[in-house]
Amino acid sequence: MHEAALVQGLLDTALKAVEEHNTTYPDAAVCRIEEIVCQLGLLACVEAHTLAACFEIFAEGTPAEGANLTLETAPLACRCENCGKNFVLRQRRFVCPACGDENIHFSGGHGLTLLSLRVASEDTGHA
Ligand SMILES: [Zn+2]
Repeated sequence: MHEAALVQGLLDTALKAVEEHNTTYPDAAVCRIEEIVCQLGLLACVEAHTLAACFEIFAEGTPAEGANLTLETAPLACRCENCGKNFVLRQRRFVCPACGDENIHFSGGHGLTLLSLRVASEDTGHA
């Protein structure tokens, strides 16, 4: 389960961030995560709804239970092997915008990265 591993990693990161926040600011302790915004790599071959379903299961019983999972597609940095142009892909269309060549070099694009958290605390309601 590719999705499960990605989601577990994301959730671990989010929960760890909350834990660290609560250790640092015990007076403004976060009790709940309301929203998790993350970037999904352009080449991560996973379905958004599968991710969301996995997340719901894993988040059960944690401060992230019921949190809204917002997925953005991470742009992929590429370089054309033909003309040397550096550009960013936002769609799975692997063609150089400058010369139209398909010989494109890139790396990464498979991960799920935590961008930001919206949390609820007893105090300000904001981390
Ligand atoms: Zn090119």
